[in-house]
Amino acid sequence: MSEKNTKLNTEPPLYDILLKELQEADNRLRAIFDSIPFPCYFRDRTHNILDCNQGCPDFFGLKSKQEYIDNFFDLSPKFQLCGKESIKKSEEMTLEAFKIGRVCFEWLHIHKNGEFIPAEVTLVRVHWQNDTYVLATLRDLRETYKLREAEQIIKERLQLMLDSSPMACVIYDENFTILEVNREALRLFELKNKQEYIDRFFELSPEYQPDGRLSVEKIKELIEASFENGRMNFGWLHQTLGGKLIHCEKTFEPVTLEGRKMIISYTRDLREINNALEMVDYLKKLAYMDPLTGAYNRRYFMEEADKALHATIEAGQELSLIMVDIDFFKVVNDTYGHDIGDEVLKILVKRMQRVLHNILIARYGGEEFVILLPNISNKNAIDIAWRVQKNITSTKFSVSGGIKIPITASFGVSSLIEIDGILSLSDILKNADKALYQAKASGRNTVVSGCC
Ligand code: GH3
Ligand code: MG
Ligand code: MG
Repeated sequence: MSEKNTKLNTEPPLYDILLKELQEADNRLRAIFDSIPFPCYFRDRTHNILDCNQGCPDFFGLKSKQEYIDNFFDLSPKFQLCGKESIKKSEEMTLEAFKIGRVCFEWLHIHKNGEFIPAEVTLVRVHWQNDTYVLATLRDLRETYKLREAEQIIKERLQLMLDSSPMACVIYDENFTILEVNREALRLFELKNKQEYIDRFFELSPEYQPDGRLSVEKIKELIEASFENGRMNFGWLHQTLGGKLIHCEKTFEPVTLEGRKMIISYTRDLREINNALEMVDYLKKLAYMDPLTGAYNRRYFMEEADKALHATIEAGQELSLIMVDIDFFKVVNDTYGHDIGDEVLKILVKRMQRVLHNILIARYGGEEFVILLPNISNKNAIDIAWRVQKNITSTKFSVSGGIKIPITASFGVSSLIEIDGILSLSDILKNADKALYQAKASGRNTVVSGCC
């Protein structure tokens, strides 16, 4: 009996066992709570901090959980980045969590050493022993902020590079979505911003390109071809919203960025180059023109006639020349003066141009002109000479002072018929001159032909 009693006495009472088990469970939970790699704490509806894990003091460089709880409100600046007072925002967020169950927001903290720590705070509503609390979890965002900053810097740098490009530059993705537009592209089309570029994109090219293709279809094809075959250069006709046409040269450069296929499109405005080329053409023309009559000069004629002769010999074709000399021009000068003589020369060239259209007419000497007729037979050249003669004599030449002067001219035609490759330009000219001399000798105002 006494033995039994002794045995009973050594066993701990049930209450103690339960208490011990509870304590062990509590310790286990606390160990788990403390080992969570984020600072966590509980707060109630009145914003009291009830408990926190070891992560909290560690996060702020504090010695103990108690120190954390006691200094809780000193661990945030007075105001948050959004401009709200920290206390107010904290209360708002807690109430929101009680209401909807979970909120997540960015929060600025202050470390014990004074460093600002951006963090992501998640508040989750939890029920425990017939009451409701909020469990807060903090995530350090310092690294995220650094990455964001680095990303921002890279973005700004890229934008700077894009904007400083002297060529209009646009970046498209595979679906033809416009991702970036640089400043030069906006300037080229006289647009305000990227959005306007995107909205009006299809108005920035005429409906059809000069080759008759629909602009929309052609550009899509070119983008696809560029993804397939690499860099592409091509001519493109753009227009401003005001309808000003812009001849351009475009380059499509396909690239892959972060696994996304894109096209960087560079557009070069050719208007200035075209203007410069037109100016060069104009200056060239000036160098080849007779300033008084607007006909080509002798130098130009010699160059063109030489080229035409070679082409004719090579192709085994015909070539003709007409020499024109005004009859008794000295008398015109002597009667009306040199200035009126000049006017007669100008009118003569105009009349010949009207008959001959694009055929080359050059002033060969004083009142002597030469007409170059590549691929024209001798017979046709004679016909042409008579047509010019008829035009000249059909009406008198009206000059200043209401004076009307009857003008005639003599024509010497020379043609290259038999191709033997020996004849030179000077031979053909000599023949034309000879024929002209005969025309003069036979009474003027007539056409004479002499063949080589
Ligand atoms: P034809 O040819 O019928 O034999 O007689 P022509 O009087 O026309 O002959 P000629 O060749 O002797 O005279 C040509 C004249 O053309 C002489 C020159 O004063 C004149 N002349 C040459 N160049 C110009 C010019 O630029 N302006 C003017 N007004 N006269 C010019
Ligand atoms: Mg003459
Ligand atoms: Mg003459």
